[in-house]
This record gives sequence, C-alpha cells and structure tokens, in this order.
Amino acid sequence: ALDTRTAIVTGSTSGIGLAIARRFAAAGANVVINGLGDVAAIETERAAIEADFGVRCVYSPANMLSGAEIAEMVALALETFGSCDILVNNAGIQHVAPIEDFPDEKWQAIIQINLIAAFHSIKAALPAMKERGYGRIINIASAHALVASPYKSAYVAAKHGIAGLTKTVALEAATKGVTVNAICPGYVWTPLVEKQIPDTMAARGLTKEQVIHDVLLEAQPTKEFVTVEQVAGLALFLTSAEAASMTGAILSLDGGWTAH
Ligand code: NAD
Repeated sequence: ALDTRTAIVTGSTSGIGLAIARRFAAAGANVVINGLGDVAAIETERAAIEADFGVRCVYSPANMLSGAEIAEMVALALETFGSCDILVNNAGIQHVAPIEDFPDEKWQAIIQINLIAAFHSIKAALPAMKERGYGRIINIASAHALVASPYKSAYVAAKHGIAGLTKTVALEAATKGVTVNAICPGYVWTPLVEKQIPDTMAARGLTKEQVIHDVLLEAQPTKEFVTVEQVAGLALFLTSAEAASMTGAILSLDGGWTAH
C-alpha cells in the first residue's frame, strides 16, 4: 500500500498516465496529476480520483516544454503533501514523418517533452527523495527505446535517450533508497496511437485497417494491444519494497515485439 506516499504523474490527463495515477490512488497514494486539455474535463478527473479512492489529488498545469514550470510542479507536491516519493515521467507526444520532411519545431518539441522534461523533473525531485531514503522514479519509455521504426526519428531518439538517463540516475541514486527504471510498452491503445494513424496512412500509402494490422500489430507477436492497466500494474510493482533491488532496468512490456 502507498498510504503515506505522494506520486507525481506527468501527462496524466489521458491514456497511460491517467491509468497510473488512478492505480496509485487506489493503492492509497496522494497524487499530483498533470497534463494538457480541457480545464473542466481535467477537474472532473481530479475530483473523481479523490471521490473514488479517498485520497487527495491536486492538478499541476506545468507545461513539459518549460523547466521552470516543471520545478513548480515538484514544489507543489512538496508544499501540498510534504514529500514527493514517486515520480512518473510519462508525458509524451509523437509525430510521424520522413526525416527530410520532419518539421524542425516538432523535432525540438518531442525531444523537449519526451526527454528533457524528465531531466528537469528528476533534478527537482531527487534531493527530497534522497533525504527521506525512499524514491521511485519511473520513466515511461517505449519499445522505441530499444529498437527503431521508420518515420519516427525524433521519438526514437528521445526514447533511446531516456533509457540512458534512466541508467545514469539509477547509478547516482543507488545507495539512497531511490530506484530509477524505464517501462517500455509496445503499442498501447490510447489517443497517442490513434492520432498517428492518419499520418502513417499518408507516409506509407495505407488504409486505417492496414496501418493497425500490418504496421502496428505487425510488430507485436501477441497481435494484441498492450492495455493501460498492464502498464499501471508494472508501475505499481516498481513502487513496492520487493522492487527495491530493481534499478537501472529497461523493462519491456511489448507483447514480444523486442524479442524479434
Ligand atoms: P496520450 O496522448 O494519451 O497522453 C499523453 C499525455 O501527455 C496527456 O495527458 C497530454 O496532455 C500530456 N502532454 C502532452 N504534451 C504535454 C506538455 N507539453 N506538457 C504537459 N503534458 C503534456 O498518450 P499515451 O499513449 O498515454 O502516452 C503516454 C506515454 O507513454 C508517452 O511518453 C508515450 O511516448 C508512451 N508510450 C505510449 C505508447 C502507446 O502505444 N500509446 C507506447 C509506448 C510508449
């Protein structure tokens, strides 16, 4: 149980992040949710977490493009709850295009949100974790932290980068009760995946069904999408006492994709 714990989950207004925030709240943690989107819809999600699980939940509007706002998000957790025990770097975006056509500003934003934001959040959260002798940093990477796919140069570069960041901080924090791990999901059915289908159709000249079966699930031997609940379950395990020796690990959760 996470009764005395506080968790920050970035990008938790949707998809995997929302499932992780709700799973941690179900285990008793107070949570800081974060992400973009409609203000009223976010307030509904926030209130639902408090009502469903009897914990406290606050929302940080920090934009992952801003190091200063990320530091404010961590400060909000420390001020509100007195600790920041668990940090999940989950916020992420995708863009699919051949490198010759890849817009410069999209490349920058993907590296910023999917990689550099985790540097800023870890930098801000780690001192208090070390001081308390407990911390769990969980980076939501991707199968694309281990292998590549064409037309995803920025995303693959950012995800390979976060695997390196994970291992490095794991070494720096190893004697302090702080573990740092990366979860590498294969294709999970979320808005992020749904939104890239039109671009993949255009880049490869395929129909929607062809993209789902011949591109997405082609990579995954199980021929099933990973579920957000499965990712949240692994994240919860990583917060446990039994997971204390698991650090610097790059954990595949991909229906066999990277076993190819
Ligand atoms: P999603 O689009 O459903 O959710 C992304 C979240 O990030 C949202 O809450 C969004 O508001 C937030 N976000 C985006 N830009 C932001 C910004 N600038 N500042 C703050 N928040 C921002 O996506 P998802 O599929 O749940 O993806 C979550 C993570 O999982 C990402 O890092 C993604 O790369 C990774 N991932 C997803 C899949 C998949 O198949 N869906 C597979 C492997 C890894």
